[in-house]
Amino acid sequence: MASSSSSFLHFFPTKTSLQTREDRENFPFQYKKHHYSFPSQNKINQAKLYSSGLQLQCSPLEHSLTTSTMCNLTVESPLMDKEEAPLKIAIVGFGNFGQFIAQGLKRQGHQVMATSRSDYTDYCKLNGFHFFRSMDAMCEEKPDIFLICSSILSTENIVRTIPFHKLKPDTIFVDVLSVKQFPKNLFLEVLPPEFGIVCAHPMFGPESGKEGWAGLPFVYDRVRVFSDSPQDLNCQRFLNIFENEGCRMVEMSCEEHDRHAAGSQFITHTIGRILSQLNLESTPINTKGYETLLKLTENTVSDSFDLYYGLFMYNVNATEQIDNLDRAFETVKQKLFGRLHDILRKQIVERVPLPVEVNAENRRKKNSISAPSFLPNAEEMHIRDIASFAVPGEVIPNSKAQAPGIR
Ligand code: NAP
Repeated sequence: MASSSSSFLHFFPTKTSLQTREDRENFPFQYKKHHYSFPSQNKINQAKLYSSGLQLQCSPLEHSLTTSTMCNLTVESPLMDKEEAPLKIAIVGFGNFGQFIAQGLKRQGHQVMATSRSDYTDYCKLNGFHFFRSMDAMCEEKPDIFLICSSILSTENIVRTIPFHKLKPDTIFVDVLSVKQFPKNLFLEVLPPEFGIVCAHPMFGPESGKEGWAGLPFVYDRVRVFSDSPQDLNCQRFLNIFENEGCRMVEMSCEEHDRHAAGSQFITHTIGRILSQLNLESTPINTKGYETLLKLTENTVSDSFDLYYGLFMYNVNATEQIDNLDRAFETVKQKLFGRLHDILRKQIVERVPLPVEVNAENRRKKNSISAPSFLPNAEEMHIRDIASFAVPGEVIPNSKAQAPGIR
């Protein structure tokens, strides 16, 4: 059994209350190390030790090295070999993503139950899940984890209708919404204070994760988990599901997630949505790049528009990204058309003949006025139209007054 010598620090800060991410970050390293940096096998061992009430101890120096090899993991515990009961995980919102994630939870041996607006009884029977037609009935099952998989737009209404009093006081609420600040604030506002809160975002879905979850990022923020408690243990066991599936675990604050996601995921979805408006089709000469665009379009539109709208409406950083995208497109257009402007200037200054505004005489002869081969003919490209291609800040001469041959 580990000693309680003062030269050793406890892994678990017993009888402290490191409930929030900020608390833990301010606490000396060992708490964070324990929860997030251990190889999963050690986590399981420590979780078992923890549930047996034992404390594992380790020196500060050992912590800064590889904890898995340096720490004493040979403590005997009567619970060490005992089979852990599966977590009871209740899913609300059993659509596209709810069903997809449920398969992974089942693969890891946990008990999955679900409720949703639509009736998924048959699907659940076929797949070994328990479907409840009513939220109340599911809550009476007293799940360990309450997993919110509803659309971003419907989540607030759904959460507000959950009969919290029917749940265990140490229930952990987890959401998988593709935005994170919104559910965090909603949970903190409406959940009873003893409930745990984990805001998560698996950065993959039924399309990108259909071949398995290995290497795919799983972002999470332990917003409120009571340390040194069974809730803490259940939280770690829940996170282990994704780690055991091979996900790349990324602990990140909800705010940071939303900043990154607006600049990456929201942009990706937006480009996909724009491309889908072009009705792109496969051609016999597809380049690799074009194949990527076709795939992007297909992936994007397989998600609901509600999801996309949620990414925009419920992320404070999304509007800025739309503006950036707009500006970027303008810049690219200006680069292209700015070149055309140079050609026009050359014609004006160096008096290279330009297709002229056709007067009555010219109109008669218009077929004999030929535009330089690199420009469309006069009817297709009026001087005024070209002015709109000017690079901002540069003055386009009044074409009618100054362009040679116009008068
Ligand atoms: P979604 O369109 O965002 O959400 C569909 C789910 O929301 C369904 O379960 C649906 O219930 C429920 N729902 C929609 N409107 C509702 C309403 N008015 N009242 C009650 N329930 C309502 O599509 P999704 O792909 O399944 O995404 C679910 C959640 O997972 C979202 O929060 C999304 O951001 C997140 N997520 C999705 C992906 C992905 O790749 N798809 C990846 C990571 C996270 P019914 O099915 O019963 O109608």
